[in-house]
Amino acid sequence: MIQTIYVEESVRNHPRTREICARFPGATQIDCERYNSVFNSNSQNFRLQKQQPSLILAHKRKGYVLPTPPDYGIGGSHNYYFSHMLNCVYDCRYCFLQGMYRSANYVVFVNYEDYFDQIESTAKEASGDSWFFSGYDCDSLAFEPVTGFMRYALDRFSLIPKAHLEIRTKSTQVRDLLSRPPIKNCVIAFSFTPEKVSQSLEHRVPSIKKRVLAMQKLQNHGWKIGLRFDPIVHSKTLESDYRDLFTTIFESIDPKTVHSASYGTFRLPKPFFKKMVTLYPEEKLFALPLTEHKSQVSFGDITEELCLSTVHNLLIEFIDERIIFPCS
Ligand code: SF4
Repeated sequence: MIQTIYVEESVRNHPRTREICARFPGATQIDCERYNSVFNSNSQNFRLQKQQPSLILAHKRKGYVLPTPPDYGIGGSHNYYFSHMLNCVYDCRYCFLQGMYRSANYVVFVNYEDYFDQIESTAKEASGDSWFFSGYDCDSLAFEPVTGFMRYALDRFSLIPKAHLEIRTKSTQVRDLLSRPPIKNCVIAFSFTPEKVSQSLEHRVPSIKKRVLAMQKLQNHGWKIGLRFDPIVHSKTLESDYRDLFTTIFESIDPKTVHSASYGTFRLPKPFFKKMVTLYPEEKLFALPLTEHKSQVSFGDITEELCLSTVHNLLIEFIDERIIFPCS
């Protein structure tokens, strides 16, 4: 439950600010001039703040839509990402957000319209279809009951058929999606790691069983479903762990109508990794045999190749290879 809400001056009278604040009637509201004076302040500890994050409501001023890194995508030639929110209600120990931000507080940018104006113009200017990925700096759906962002996003995307939306999530907050007709240019992409990894590293995340059930309901309702297996964390039981995971998923999900699957190994920029080790020195993940190469920390080429080929070879037992996309 949110106990403190910081409100940037510029959005104090925004209708969404009022709506969101009304959801937390007991919260203390504190005005601030600019959100970054709170979010980027030096004297913060991500780990401590994660226990009781505050909410910051702010106005996004630029950079609504940004190009993705070159290898990020599911087959489209124009790929962009956007973040209406910074930070996540879940607490995955491998998550790069812990290394990137000083603060674990949630920032929500309430000027949603500006995002979609830019998405619309970006899609119009592109020479073909464009993909827009949500859930880069947050989980796309986990905070949806508070923000209503995806509800708004779907209304806008339904009017731009040239633009495709990926809603990436580990959340089971799918009630809104089930209460409306699906739109063709949207994929709801669920992220998974095998049971053991999920149990030890994905704190507060709904169980695999619950996510599969949410996915099954969406698929039955007609939504396009995506599967994301990123990061893959190497272990001696990798093959049997992923076989079990895929068996669980495809017992409930129709593989023929899966839109896409992607996978990638655990990797982090070195400065993020160093900060994460400082935050969680006892974390076993960071004590695994990792290597540094070109400012990235990862399992190294040989182990990565093993992880990628194992997951790929298992996946093609269940789904068509043409819808599988490695992400490096
Ligand atoms: S669900 Fe995604 S964004 Fe949220 S903590 Fe886990 S990895 Fe990070």
